[in-house]
Amino acid sequence: MTNKKEHWTNSAWTISIGTAIFSLLLTMGYDYSKEKPILTTVWTILKWVANLIWTVLNFDLKVWWIIVAVIVFILIIILIDKFKNEETFKPDFYSYREGKFKRWRWTWGWNWNSSKNAWIISGMKAHCPNCDTPMIEHSSIYGLSFDCPRCEFRASDGQCDEPHKIERIILDNIDRQRAEKKNSL
Ligand SMILES: [Zn+2]
Repeated sequence: MTNKKEHWTNSAWTISIGTAIFSLLLTMGYDYSKEKPILTTVWTILKWVANLIWTVLNFDLKVWWIIVAVIVFILIIILIDKFKNEETFKPDFYSYREGKFKRWRWTWGWNWNSSKNAWIISGMKAHCPNCDTPMIEHSSIYGLSFDCPRCEFRASDGQCDEPHKIERIILDNIDRQRAEKKNSL
């Protein structure tokens, strides 16, 4: 015992007291397990765990191990946090996914477009005014038309909500709501 900076687990007192308690527990446990043989397996496992703990406690810990461990831990936390934020960050309009416009009810979703660096409307669907089924959109040189796959409702050019206008209205609704929020603050 020449080293002054000894770990507490290496001091003579700790070792002798620790060993005494450990061997006492070992004897008690061994006697008990002899009476109840089923416990022998459990006892073996417990002994193994106790040995492991004892070994870990007696580890000659280097300070730089702890520093490296803390740095690695912090890095992991930062990475998880960053990943989580990107995954879960949703704008306030994210739940705005349906609305009644000129003629029909429309539903849509939001997709993050990384090249535009913006949220864009995706999967816009016009719902049938009779049965609410999403309608099939046709656009050709003859114009725009919608038909319902369920009830055969049809709407041709001039009787349809035009998707590009609906999209513009959705975006404008969001802008207006934002302006309202700003004014009320
Ligand atoms: Zn229908």
